[in-house]
Amino acid sequence: MKANMKRKKVQFKARILFVLLCFALILTTGCKTGGAEDRPSEVPANTSHSGKQADSGPWYLTLVNRWNPLPENYDLELAEVEGGELVDQRIYDPLMEMLEAAEAEGLGPIVVSGYRTRAVQQRFMDEKIAEFRQEGYSRKDAEELAKQWVAIPGTSEHELGLAVDINGDTYDIYPWLQENSYKYGFIFRCPADKKDITGIAEEVWHYRYVGLKAAKEIYESGLCLEEYLDRD
Ligand SMILES: [Zn+2]
Repeated sequence: MKANMKRKKVQFKARILFVLLCFALILTTGCKTGGAEDRPSEVPANTSHSGKQADSGPWYLTLVNRWNPLPENYDLELAEVEGGELVDQRIYDPLMEMLEAAEAEGLGPIVVSGYRTRAVQQRFMDEKIAEFRQEGYSRKDAEELAKQWVAIPGTSEHELGLAVDINGDTYDIYPWLQENSYKYGFIFRCPADKKDITGIAEEVWHYRYVGLKAAKEIYESGLCLEEYLDRD
């Protein structure tokens, strides 16, 4: 995958200590870098799903989940946000607007995980397999167990560059995001009551850009992205 780096900088107050604490918490719960799809799911990996193919529709509605892998040779241009994380440059401006609005509320938002390469996602998977191997599982069993914790490379929304994991000074950032992110084109991607459809347990920090129109409709309807794309 080619990725043309387009560097931009943002002026936000750094909150390194809080982020480190968040990382420590996340790591102790087995979720690397606070990213999506790193938690166990009860959904079988081979469950069929009716979600539309990832290569249909506009770029911002590309569906990537365990049933819909990233399009082949997916290409994107990246922009850097404060802290060094990268995102698809097309969502940079709305993301900054959302973070600035949250900042104005005193919530101290910061992006802790953005774009991931296939290689990074593969590394997460390899590390998890190695952990289970060390516990004495066979390679086959270790691989099966790892898939319950880490998204199979090629099926993580973070590889699209359209998903971000956001932390804040306190937990208050999350209810604010749930009520306001749609105004900037982002959705709360993995609600608890949709985990059988998204394939991912609730992740309050994981936000996905889908454009203003879809975000508003998803917010108002209570549908998840899969349901929204499948509607008549
Ligand atoms: Zn995530």
